[in-house]
Amino acid sequence: MKRRKAIKNIGVGLTAGWLLPSVLAACKKDDPGPEVPFNGTVAIIGAGAAGLYTADILSSKGINVLVFEAGNQLGGRVRSLRNQRELTIQTSADFPVELGTEIVYGTNSAWGNIIKNYTLTRIDLNSQTTEQFILENQAKSAADWAGDTDLQAVRNFINGLPTYGGADVSMQQAAGLSTRAQALLNSLAGNRFGSSSDRVGAKGVAEALALTEHDNVAYMIKTNPLQDIITSRFSGVVGKIQLNTAIKSINYAGEKIVLTDQNSNQTEVEKVVVTVPLAVLKTGGVTFTPGLPAAKVSAMNKIGMDHALRLIIDFKKNFWGEGTGYLWGGTQGPAYFNTGVARSEFYRTLTVTVHGPKAKQLSDMGDGMLDAVLAELDSIYNGQATLFIRKVLNADATEGERVWFKADWGKDEFFKGGISFLPPGSSVQDRINFSTPINNKVFFAGEATDHKGDGGTVNGALNSAERVAEEVVQSIINA
Ligand SMILES: Cc1cc2nc3c(=O)[nH]c(=O)nc-3n(C[C@H](O)[C@H](O)[C@H](O)COP(=O)(O)OP(=O)(O)OC[C@H]3O[C@@H](n4cnc5c(N)ncnc54)[C@H](O)[C@@H]3O)c2cc1C
Repeated sequence: MKRRKAIKNIGVGLTAGWLLPSVLAACKKDDPGPEVPFNGTVAIIGAGAAGLYTADILSSKGINVLVFEAGNQLGGRVRSLRNQRELTIQTSADFPVELGTEIVYGTNSAWGNIIKNYTLTRIDLNSQTTEQFILENQAKSAADWAGDTDLQAVRNFINGLPTYGGADVSMQQAAGLSTRAQALLNSLAGNRFGSSSDRVGAKGVAEALALTEHDNVAYMIKTNPLQDIITSRFSGVVGKIQLNTAIKSINYAGEKIVLTDQNSNQTEVEKVVVTVPLAVLKTGGVTFTPGLPAAKVSAMNKIGMDHALRLIIDFKKNFWGEGTGYLWGGTQGPAYFNTGVARSEFYRTLTVTVHGPKAKQLSDMGDGMLDAVLAELDSIYNGQATLFIRKVLNADATEGERVWFKADWGKDEFFKGGISFLPPGSSVQDRINFSTPINNKVFFAGEATDHKGDGGTVNGALNSAERVAEEVVQSIINA
């Protein structure tokens, strides 16, 4: 559709023209450590958080890097609406709206530490926004639901996850809650972790939560698109990046590695770091010669990565209430988020984040997905969603198209899904097995390879970059 096409067609020149507030230029350089003598080139496939950080660390050590990015912009799943300059319809939002990553987890996490260097204003979700929970088509705060045993049971289950010691089953089975509690459980224990509650494993999430070392502060940045922060932090490697270059095959049979792109151009390098999304690898988006080792393929297949979708809908009225941040428990929209909360007086934009089979179902409806979501909001808020959705004003002052956007990550050939998750029967060990380098030549990074409990997040992507950079350096030093 037109909007999606507009999102995909953003050119390189446009992204190069991003306006970065001067505060963003004042980033402290991390200590690069000693130089590592290496005459060859390390290719990095993918310019998301993992690829950019890997390139940054390696080049700060004097290692020659080349980054290949299939798309026409940097950041991967860190992508902000404001930067999609070719969109014909504009949102009324005077604050950044995100197409992918929306929330930063941890003030002392890998991502939190980058953001800290910029002294940007944070909006703490816990202390500056309130949550609402939908039960029986009514949205109310936890206080207003006081005494509701289903809401309490869902919250107790979530709070107990870090110490979950039960069977290796899905969240849904592990929680064992009533039918009335299922949509809330799906929002908070399924969708939140990358799929539905009958597909995400309780043990995998518990293991990850127990491994995580950073604090649990969840926040937004008040005025800066997250994509700008990523681009600014890694601006030092921009000159090493080749956009619009999808690597289709990696031949590591010989002494040199031969990379072939979508135009059959070939590049020879000594080492390669693969950071493309797990779902791209699982569906053969990049082929390897020789084929990947069986243990790696088996680990990849045990990790899940389902469809994901973000809708952004502009309204003329904030009918969901002052101070509301997240609205949990929807069936069409398991995570509604009032993204302008505490950022703007005119916070009238809802984002809807959907992972798993529901995302695929909505995606298959095409533009009908908007009607499905509006119908749910209408039933909760007495028809106000349809009444107050903003429409484009035509030249003759009549109202035109409804103002909304979608980022269909599952349909995009360079992502093929949202985030990785651990289904029942898998564990963090599968992420470790997936990340294992091959012959000190082919290395793996990206959020799905994270070992530190942050899989499925920007922290996971950045952690994996630190790990893989160290693996590459060790392979050079020990050669
Ligand atoms: C809807 C949604 C909401 C999210 N919300 C949050 C959140 O609130 N907080 C949070 O921390 N995380 C969130 N995440 C997850 C977070 O965005 C990712 O974990 C992180 O950005 C992944 O970084 P990465 O570098 O591993 O992968 P990516 O960012 O996916 O980078 C991989 C890159 O590889 C490129 N590529 C693919 N195929 C090829 C090829 N053949 N050749 C060359 N390049 C290729 C892609 O174009 C992409 O740029 C969300 C993700 C989604 C989709």
